[in-house]
Amino acid sequence: MLRKMVEQALLSVQINTHQLMDLVLASHHSQHVQRHRNLLLQTRVQFVSALFCVLTPLWIIVDYIFFPAPLCYYYILARLASCVAFFFLALPCRESGYCGRAIYRLYAMMAIPPSFYLVHLFAQNGQTLDGVALILVSLYALLPFVVVAGLSVFPLTLIEVALVSLPVAAITAWGAYQTPNMTLANYIGTLWLLALVIGVAAMAGTTQLNYMIGLVNRATRDVLTGAFTRRSGEESLDLAFRMSLKQNDPLSVIFVDLDHFKSINDDYGHEDGDNALRMAAEALKSVLRRGDLLVRWGGEEFLIVMAGTDTEGAANVIHRVMENGLGLRPDGTPLTASMGQAERSMDKIHDWMHLIELADQRMYKAKHAGRNRCYLNDTEVIQGKTPTQEV
Ligand code: GH3
Ligand code: MG
Ligand code: MG
Repeated sequence: MLRKMVEQALLSVQINTHQLMDLVLASHHSQHVQRHRNLLLQTRVQFVSALFCVLTPLWIIVDYIFFPAPLCYYYILARLASCVAFFFLALPCRESGYCGRAIYRLYAMMAIPPSFYLVHLFAQNGQTLDGVALILVSLYALLPFVVVAGLSVFPLTLIEVALVSLPVAAITAWGAYQTPNMTLANYIGTLWLLALVIGVAAMAGTTQLNYMIGLVNRATRDVLTGAFTRRSGEESLDLAFRMSLKQNDPLSVIFVDLDHFKSINDDYGHEDGDNALRMAAEALKSVLRRGDLLVRWGGEEFLIVMAGTDTEGAANVIHRVMENGLGLRPDGTPLTASMGQAERSMDKIHDWMHLIELADQRMYKAKHAGRNRCYLNDTEVIQGKTPTQEV
């Protein structure tokens, strides 16, 4: 009952479980989304850090004029330390391809104002202030709110928003508890306001993320099959190949060409051809792990890219493809494919173009040998279940 209600609610905002997971867990994102988001987070963190690197020390004059010693010195020191931290975060990051990096920089940036707030709590504890100093102190108490509200300019998952805002909420609760003359009503009011700001930041962050994922998917996925387009596939393959070389990990590709596909169009029309293509892509996706890529390389040609998979692992995938099939042709007979496999280290290949070329050559070998089979190398073959029907 509850599950149905949740599903209905999600349906009404057009979000399925897969999309929902994208908004919760960053590890659920596709490589393209990770790379794009990483770049976006990085440039925003750099921009905000550069801005605060300049603005933070300017306020030293105000601290110096309005706070008595030694309190003003604590503030000045905290400002200088914050300025140094902002400076390092504003520097260009060399490892821009590494997906985890930008989010850690964001966490580091978001930790600066609460750290300043903690210094403020310890430094002004027990001091009696009045006039402008009192106004400034109440402004500094708003720093945790600034951090949480600032989260809304970044495309973040719910977990990432929680990772920043929950420690900030704990510090705020503790700080408010330490504040002299804090009534229970004021205390609850402060925490309630913070909870609201966290809620709004979570909504804004995930909405931005959802919008960004939609844009990236539209730019990188083929509309008919949902597989990656050739251009985005090449980008991923290039990255996967370089990683595989660097870490000396296997990298396997399988070139898939559907057999006698033209005759479906010729005999039953383009629409049935499109449906068969869609079914074949779904069947291929269903045997892949998360992290493997399905690329629509050409009209009825697909490329499967499997990082960290050797020839034996690829053979297992091919067996699963043969076992599950690729759907049916409009006349009810199984749709089959000819495939060629190649693996970077086993085949001693030095660039991804040659890896695909070799897989393509083996696919042609499978075609000439009678279709519905896969060449793992120049001699080893995995034969499909049903003999292909020659048209
Ligand atoms: P083979 O077994 O030798 O691969 O034969 P084939 O008919 O599959 O190969 P061929 O290259 O002669 O034909 C590929 C066909 O795929 C031609 C084209 O009409 C069809 N095709 C390519 N893209 C699409 C598409 O998006 N939709 C449809 N319906 N057909 C497509
Ligand atoms: Mg073809
Ligand atoms: Mg074909």
